[in-house]
Amino acid sequence: MSSTLSNTTPEIRVTETDCFIDGKWVPAISGKTFATINPATEEEITQVAEGDAADVDAAAKAARDAFEDGDWAKMDARDRGRLLYKLADRIEHDIDELAALETLDNGKPISESRHGDLPLVIDCLRYYAGFADKIHGSTVPIRGNYLCYTRREPIGVAGQIIPWNFPMLMTAWKWSPALAAGCTIVMKPAEQTPLTCLRMARLAQEVGFPDGVINVVPGYGPTAGAACVKHPLIDKIAFTGEHRTAQIITRDSADTLKRLTFELGGKSPNVIFADADLDAAAMGAYVGLFLNQGQCCCAGSRVFVESSVHDEFLEKLEKLTRNRKVGNPFDPNTNQGPQVDKAQFDKIMSYVEKGQNEGANCVFGGNRVGDKGFFIEPTVFDNVKDDMSIATDEIFGPVLSVLTFDDKEDMIRRANNTFYGLAAAVWTRDISVAHEFARRVRAGTIWVNCYDVFDAAAPFGGFKMSGYGRELGEEGLRAYTENKTVTVAL
Ligand code: NAD
Repeated sequence: MSSTLSNTTPEIRVTETDCFIDGKWVPAISGKTFATINPATEEEITQVAEGDAADVDAAAKAARDAFEDGDWAKMDARDRGRLLYKLADRIEHDIDELAALETLDNGKPISESRHGDLPLVIDCLRYYAGFADKIHGSTVPIRGNYLCYTRREPIGVAGQIIPWNFPMLMTAWKWSPALAAGCTIVMKPAEQTPLTCLRMARLAQEVGFPDGVINVVPGYGPTAGAACVKHPLIDKIAFTGEHRTAQIITRDSADTLKRLTFELGGKSPNVIFADADLDAAAMGAYVGLFLNQGQCCCAGSRVFVESSVHDEFLEKLEKLTRNRKVGNPFDPNTNQGPQVDKAQFDKIMSYVEKGQNEGANCVFGGNRVGDKGFFIEPTVFDNVKDDMSIATDEIFGPVLSVLTFDDKEDMIRRANNTFYGLAAAVWTRDISVAHEFARRVRAGTIWVNCYDVFDAAAPFGGFKMSGYGRELGEEGLRAYTENKTVTVAL
């Protein structure tokens, strides 16, 4: 591992810091603001409007009005799709600037925001743009002399609450299906990373989304977020984040019985059989955990290796980890930037300590990098046991646990021995073993001989406590619709 902490941050335009409500940029009604921090330098980037219940109320009313009446309500589906295409084109035009803004606010390496997150954002918008005019009901052959048909209608006003790990991509995952379906939006971005979501709202305004269709209220979870969850004019909450927050949201939404979709955490098993291509598997384990500083809900944080190839595998993994470049996220050669904030940094370091105290063998990393910015060495623990906290808890940082197995049955039982069920991967040349694993492991996504392969067309979401419902694909669109049955006497 090498580090480059000396480089400086380039000049980046930060132009949107207010709430965006009903097509207007307005300060929070309370007048309050909060700081968003550059995690690479720990310096304040800017102050952002701190919205709360009053601002959410204004946003919900604007979204409701836009949904019930006005240009959006009257717009043909195909024209909604055209607006989404235009937004995708506009983002593509500004791709370098948006990638830099994402890296500034979140700390992820510029190579990833420019060549990973942003292309996925654009692809997601275009995928759902094409869906806008293909949302069909069906005709239903009921008994009697009737014509019966169904209509897929937009669910109404969607409240959307997102985390800080993929700020723009999560915005795109939430906005694209909602807008294609004809919903209007009240979005609460994460307090750590509000800037790219606000910029996206500016671009949406510029390409012609009518006032009130997209509203963004930056602020904190227990105030602005909770106000979205409780607001009677909001029909649905789409949330990505921690399962404990989802439990609070479930309780808070009971009075208004909102439709809920949740994309939550994971402790995903990444299983390597002795017959696998070990170079590819080591790369899959490395990328599967360290991508985005380990801040991925689907991170392969439990790497199970068949005992007979453990030493060979670990050597390959260590070699990759040793070459990982940690440092200034604006250096195009950097592989790993800082963690998003001090709270995450402290949480991760506490797990490194727990791993050591519980008897796991830290074979690489385990330390802070530098003394400014929230940088942590890519860390590999070997000899991890199933009941150690580093093997049970979502760490959300660059800490990889290696466990061994000898028996397939036992391994599948252990892979499933978690209350999470977001993703899993298997590396093997045996097609039967691969399909058996895919069938028996209880997770929303199974990767075979690959990891972190995402596509806007492929549904994503969790079994068990990793969530409700799916995002992306046609299922992601349906989550923003209600089904209406119409029966006509003939
Ligand atoms: P979080 O669940 O607290 O926050 C996610 C979003 O929910 C933020 O916008 C936050 O403001 C909002 N929120 C918080 N409390 C709320 C409430 N009572 N009502 C409505 N909205 C509320 O997650 P976090 O603090 O960003 O991270 C904590 C942990 O969550 C991480 O360490 C990680 O384990 C996990 N996490 C998971 C994902 C994921 O994609 N699954 C993403 C980020 C974090």
